[in-house]
Amino acid sequence: MGNIKDKVYRFSPLFIKTVLLNLVALKNNKNRFSKPYYGYLEEYQALWKLERIDILEYQSKMLIKLLKECYEYVPYYKKDFLNKNISLDDIDNDPYMVLSKLNILGKQDRKRKAEELVNNHPNRKVSEIGFTSGTSGAPTKTYLDEESTNRSFALWTRFHKNIDIKRGDKNIRFSGRLIVNPERTKPPFWMYNIVEKQLFMSTYHLRKENIKDYIKKLNKFKPILIDGYPSALYIIAQQINSNSIKLNFTPKALVVTAETLYDYQREEIENAFNCKVYNQYASSEGSPPITECQFGRLHVNEDSGVFEFLNSKNEKAKPGEIAKMVVTSFRNWKTPLVRYDIEDTVLLPEIQQTCECGCKMFYVDKIIGREDDVLWTEEKGYVGRMDTAYKGLNGIIKSQLVQKSKNLLIVNQIIDENYSTKMNQLFINNLKDRLGRNIEIRINIVKDIPLGANGKFDAVKREFKIDN
Ligand SMILES: [Zn+2]
Repeated sequence: MGNIKDKVYRFSPLFIKTVLLNLVALKNNKNRFSKPYYGYLEEYQALWKLERIDILEYQSKMLIKLLKECYEYVPYYKKDFLNKNISLDDIDNDPYMVLSKLNILGKQDRKRKAEELVNNHPNRKVSEIGFTSGTSGAPTKTYLDEESTNRSFALWTRFHKNIDIKRGDKNIRFSGRLIVNPERTKPPFWMYNIVEKQLFMSTYHLRKENIKDYIKKLNKFKPILIDGYPSALYIIAQQINSNSIKLNFTPKALVVTAETLYDYQREEIENAFNCKVYNQYASSEGSPPITECQFGRLHVNEDSGVFEFLNSKNEKAKPGEIAKMVVTSFRNWKTPLVRYDIEDTVLLPEIQQTCECGCKMFYVDKIIGREDDVLWTEEKGYVGRMDTAYKGLNGIIKSQLVQKSKNLLIVNQIIDENYSTKMNQLFINNLKDRLGRNIEIRINIVKDIPLGANGKFDAVKREFKIDN
């Protein structure tokens, strides 16, 4: 939404907001689920069950198509092809070799050169413009055409179908969007989108005194699917578990998005809702997705792009290592992403086994999160999954790790009376076990930890760049 529209929306009464939300949803629905969507969905569902060799053949065909379009119609990539003397024949002969010669596209360039990255193919009309807000500065523009939108939603539907969710199932989304005035102190803290049978619940109002209203509404609405930030679902789950509240519904699936999902969050949430949590990864800029199957494996959707997994030195990461992802996507054709450093990381498995779900696409062990959220020390390299450092500790209500420099880690935490000097010592030891002995650790006891951009909670962040 533009600026003026945003303002009108923000200051409108709730009833008008609901009407506006539904009008937008109706328009979006028409774009997203137009005729070709059904063809793509069928194609993707078949691919999910294909043999690996057939999946890779499909991937290679799509890569050739993408690189050729970039060669002919995308000024930014055209320059790179010409600089490296790459021809259309080279693309046909070995698209992966060509890919490996191209520059890695960083986030800054992606943002600065947004117009040069647009695909000018005459058949690709802009159907939607997306905005991705980063942690700072102006949002990145993403132009989409009909195919990109349709493909994205077909992939999303496939993920849902794999976990037994149908389009049109009643669902709740915990949204970081400012759907309800942040000053509001009484319910409703939510809004209903009839078109999608979707109740938007605000994450900005999830304060202790409001949780009972949220739970009351959940019980009344009885969603089949709940999706949202894990930190938001976790807050509600904690209340449900610690007060032994009985929910009068059991959803089929909980899907988490946008933030790193920690094991302790998964456990608490699954417990509260008596339902499996599914993790997934896909950026709004159009990266190919990673989706969890019913057997708990995070399948890389290799039919929607090419993933390169690299270590902090930009070399191919080894099995069992934390790797950052460089992606080439087949789901955004209007603003193509070729070798895009998405600044997110995963943990690679030691070995790839055959998954019981029947899908032959590779999987990763964990989605670790934004590269900035992964700590790094000279002694240990990338260090992810810091949630394990809290093992055996009591009395921490909320905690945040901020690595200021190679040698300094600040911990901000809210504690209660169960947190003792002994706990403090144990915590520091746990942290040093993971980060190495050379790092200085300072623990600050605070009253509040503010949310980061888009209402997300940054449990871990690194505030310096790694220089190789
Ligand atoms: Zn599987």
